[in-house]
Amino acid sequence: MKTAESIFVPVNELLLCGNEKKYLLECIESGWISSEGPFVKRFEREFAARVGRRFGVAVSSGTAALQVAVSALGIGPGDEVIMPTFTIISCAAAIVRTCASPVLIDSDPVTWNMDVSQLEDKITPKTKAIMVVHIYGLPVDMDQVIAIAKKYDLKIIEDAAQAHGLTYKGKPCGSFGDISIFSFYPNKLVTTGEGGMVVTDNEQIARKSKELRNLCFKKNRRFIHDELGYNFRMTNLQAALGVAQLEQLDRFIEKKHQVGKKYTELLSGIEQLQLPKDRITYADNIYWVYGVLLADDFGYDADYVRKYMADKQVGTRPFFWPIHEQPVFKKTGMFEKENYPVAEKLARRGFYVPSGLALTELQIEYVVECLKEILK
Ligand SMILES: *Cc1c(COP(=O)(O)O)cnc(C)c1O
Repeated sequence: MKTAESIFVPVNELLLCGNEKKYLLECIESGWISSEGPFVKRFEREFAARVGRRFGVAVSSGTAALQVAVSALGIGPGDEVIMPTFTIISCAAAIVRTCASPVLIDSDPVTWNMDVSQLEDKITPKTKAIMVVHIYGLPVDMDQVIAIAKKYDLKIIEDAAQAHGLTYKGKPCGSFGDISIFSFYPNKLVTTGEGGMVVTDNEQIARKSKELRNLCFKKNRRFIHDELGYNFRMTNLQAALGVAQLEQLDRFIEKKHQVGKKYTELLSGIEQLQLPKDRITYADNIYWVYGVLLADDFGYDADYVRKYMADKQVGTRPFFWPIHEQPVFKKTGMFEKENYPVAEKLARRGFYVPSGLALTELQIEYVVECLKEILK
């Protein structure tokens, strides 16, 4: 029996208790371990079906999927892509690496997602696409994005890396983009160790994505190339894990819900904390992670609180650092004099607490106890 004194609570602990072992053994016994094995196609088919898409193209990471997505839409030099500043570097990197320019938008202070009311002001004749990112368990307000994309004839790239099982007005996230992407990193709701996928309904975009994933080999004569691609192939071993994980997704979502609800129940009423909304008009939170934001009048920042939690053996993670404040971009003069106050605050005052699938109720209670102690 774990006692509160001996608890170490990692920020993420995953579950591999379905058919993972069985399917991996099948790979080894059959000798299919490369990207040519049958689990890859099966995972693509089953995952795409789960999010209501016609095509899935499995790749080596969510970051790779974003690169494929931007490239498959033909975005390149001189183009602009509108995206949130509050997100992972992979989103901006994918755009910059095609020699296009990211154009940034601040976050909504309640959902922490891209503030879609600022979208239209950022559109120029160079704008080619809007990249939306569903953050921490709540979706972007897609109807508004879709209406603006229609009006200005823009493509939508949907980063659903954190949004397996999340719905917007009842429709699965990952079903809204001209091309949408997922990650299967171990802290994501379906994991393959490392991995990702692009999904789409457009046959031509799917074909292009497959070519980009596999070095753009030509069909009729291997080793001659009209274009440069990548080796972003997913192995059969990874896909075997993915198939087994996908079978358990409903249970995983249920578990995340329980964790989120429990944290909210135990933390509500603490004035120093802004908690994630359990429900907004168009979605229920799936609590991919449980993020909290320190109130403006609380005298310490997230780093200070996280250090205290670490001393108490509780793992936490900081929120994203905004794209416009990234040294790698600032040193080249990008985003000069741009300010996005909500994202800047989230970065400094937000962090997330242990939210993994293996988390126990006793661990949640311990995390809350530690948080309450420091916030006193
Ligand atoms: C995890 C994540 C990615 C990147 O996925 P990797 O598989 O780690 O490369 C991209 N976008 C978002 C929003 C993510 O959370």
